[in-house]
Amino acid sequence: MARHTITLIPGDGVGPEVSDAARRAIDATGVDIEWEVHDAGLGVVEQYGQPMPDHVLDSVRKNKVAIKGPLTTPIGKGIRSVNVALRKELDLYALVRPCKWYPGVRSRYDDIDLVIVRENTEDLYAGIEFAEGEADTLELIDTINRLAGKDIRKDSGISIKPISIFGTQRVFRFAFDWARANGRRKVTAVHKANIMKHTDGLWLRVAEAVAQEFPDVEFEDRIVDNMAMQLVQKPELYDVMVMPNLYGDILSDLCAGLIGGLGLAPGANMGDEIAVFEATHGSAPKYAGLNKTNPMAMMFSGVLMLRHIGEGDAADRLEKALAEVIAEGKSVTYDMKPNRDDPTAVGTSEVAGAVAAKLQG
Ligand code: NAD
Repeated sequence: MARHTITLIPGDGVGPEVSDAARRAIDATGVDIEWEVHDAGLGVVEQYGQPMPDHVLDSVRKNKVAIKGPLTTPIGKGIRSVNVALRKELDLYALVRPCKWYPGVRSRYDDIDLVIVRENTEDLYAGIEFAEGEADTLELIDTINRLAGKDIRKDSGISIKPISIFGTQRVFRFAFDWARANGRRKVTAVHKANIMKHTDGLWLRVAEAVAQEFPDVEFEDRIVDNMAMQLVQKPELYDVMVMPNLYGDILSDLCAGLIGGLGLAPGANMGDEIAVFEATHGSAPKYAGLNKTNPMAMMFSGVLMLRHIGEGDAADRLEKALAEVIAEGKSVTYDMKPNRDDPTAVGTSEVAGAVAAKLQG
């Protein structure tokens, strides 16, 4: 059996707990993995001068596959998200977020099986921002007012939204390829082209052109606000949905809500050569160190990772073990119980034990 070397970034907040649980579950499949464990995030800034040190990025570049726990982004103060930086630095341009409901999960919906493909490098998340009151910002406001004939207030902050033909083409080609490879029937392009004609309008135009290259996959488009409503009213009509960065971020949480919450929503950041797997949820700082949060989102990210490295059989077994633990409803965390204070909820590490026991038993 081939040995895989994989970078593991435990993350901060609840990251180390859910990462440890996911690693136990993945190891229990019997796949031979050498884990290269590297810390990143707030805890390493003092030691390395930055939250994502070069040696961590080098390890991911070398191994081409990584799984990571969440990393905290402090709000405001000009600090950029380490997660956004990682995706940009490694050019992980497509973020695949499957949202699948499993029997036993408490949700208003059942039988949900949706996939969001979120463009990961452009849009308002490109990090091009100008702070209110600074000289550059005032100069930019003057220029825009002159060129566009607008009247932006001088006390505005500005975020720039770039969406390119190149970036849009490659994420749609990825999404159509992914749909084909995974037996999906339809791709929906999500946008606000009626208002933002030169960004979302370009996005839609390019999507329509790429769709012509894949005549065997159905294609349609939806305006993002309508998409949000339709996902709540008739999610069964949708399959693979491709979104620019910001809408993808927001609707990923909406879709996580359809399938039982953030504790169950996995993800894969994909580039042409490198893949970094991570849950949709963040570092949930208030639960850090409490052995409380649900590690299943990270374990399902592990399922995606195993499939990606060609260990499809192990991926199927891990998914089945998770589905069994969910269906039994005994070894599940607080978020999967009807009441948050349910005394029968178990901790993060107990879930790992239950999943590993299914795989080894
Ligand atoms: P969050 O996802 O960390 O938590 C929001 C709430 O969701 C939690 O308080 C908790 O009630 C619930 N929750 C989240 N994960 C859960 C789990 N595994 N099990 C059970 N319940 C869970 O979102 P936030 O509070 O907005 O963000 C906290 C920090 O995480 C911020 O600094 C944010 O920037 C960062 N973040 C990082 C990533 C990432 O690393 N990719 C993603 C999102 C947010």
